Amino acid sequence: MLGTCKLCRKENRELQESHYMPAALYPKTVKLEYLPSNGQPLKEITDVLLCFDCEQCFNRRGESEVLRYIAAKIAKKPIPLVAKLEPSIVQEGDKTLKSYDGSEIGLNMDMFAYFALSMAWRGTHSWPICGSKHTTPIRLGFYEEPIRRFLAEETMDFPSETSVIVIVCTDKESREAWFLPTQCDDVWFHDIRVLALGLFFRVVLGRSIPDVLKTDSCHADGKRIHLGDASEKTRQALAYTESLSC
Ligand SMILES: [Zn+2]
Repeated sequence: MLGTCKLCRKENRELQESHYMPAALYPKTVKLEYLPSNGQPLKEITDVLLCFDCEQCFNRRGESEVLRYIAAKIAKKPIPLVAKLEPSIVQEGDKTLKSYDGSEIGLNMDMFAYFALSMAWRGTHSWPICGSKHTTPIRLGFYEEPIRRFLAEETMDFPSETSVIVIVCTDKESREAWFLPTQCDDVWFHDIRVLALGLFFRVVLGRSIPDVLKTDSCHADGKRIHLGDASEKTRQALAYTESLSC
């Protein structure tokens, strides 16, 4: 189908059947206990959205790298990132969360940041679920256009006033579930959360982001990646994805 690509906005492009949650996150050979499905196989959420070049760009800049660590086919096995992080030096931490320098263990944290931003941006589209049911679009306000330009490689500058927090989850619930990008805005900043089989992402946007969230961003100098139990946040956010089941 020919149309205008939502990401690069080029006209008369052959548009692809694009995924909201990447196809590799849908379990085909394993049964994941905590994934909301009402006992039915999950229907993949797709729409005719992006051109081939933009799909490739999403893959190349983040998705294929991130999915190596979390794809559904390995969801019943220990998450490889936990094994990578546990022997490394903790930069900061308390009982619930430990922080590491991802670059020290060979992770390209810029790819994690790109992937998380691409998920938040995909959420700005109203995706068809079934019948007349659609997702409620995420609102990124002033930040939507700078993020789109960065994702489309119209600029290589990382969007300003943007933090991306990455938590590798140690709890079984978060490891065996995902939820769609969910908006949990604070008065002072946008806060979009998404879980992908053991990786919990927060995209925080705003002029008044607390300093700790700036330091903790995987794109900041410390290239932070965190390890901890996210079961509570997972339970809260699963409700929205569950409500969309057909
Ligand atoms: Zn495009």
